[in-house]
Amino acid sequence: MATSISDALQRASRNCAERGLAFTPIRQRVLQLLLENPKGLKAYDLLARIKAEQPSATPPTVYRALDFLTEHQLAHKIERNATFVACTRDSHIEPGIFLVCPQCGGITELADVGVLQALCRALADAGHQLDNPEVEIGATCPACRPA
Ligand SMILES: [Zn+2]
Ligand SMILES: [Zn+2]
Repeated sequence: MATSISDALQRASRNCAERGLAFTPIRQRVLQLLLENPKGLKAYDLLARIKAEQPSATPPTVYRALDFLTEHQLAHKIERNATFVACTRDSHIEPGIFLVCPQCGGITELADVGVLQALCRALADAGHQLDNPEVEIGATCPACRPA
């Protein structure tokens, strides 16, 4: 396992412990698969992979694990691609901003807290509330941008 992945799992585990949440083996495994696939996985791909390892796993178990991870911002659902990605930040309570490349489907989570807080303030000033904690922006990634 790559160090960054095991680091991220340890961080998530600490995060859960601090918040009194149970980081069960299925939740860990789902998060690990998401960490191993930076472009994200669709729910059914994730289910297929889990089922390949644990034939007894049922769709609700996997979907509940995904719900847990997204609810606690350890992973995020990107509606545009209907994919789930692991959170790349230490932890956050504010929404995340995601740059989604229309060419390759690459997803980057912005880590600029100032931008996020400014966005929240601007939304509140306009009297609006976010529907999802994931804000998606279509933006061509450096690898797909013409030189
Ligand atoms: Zn995040
Ligand atoms: Zn791209």
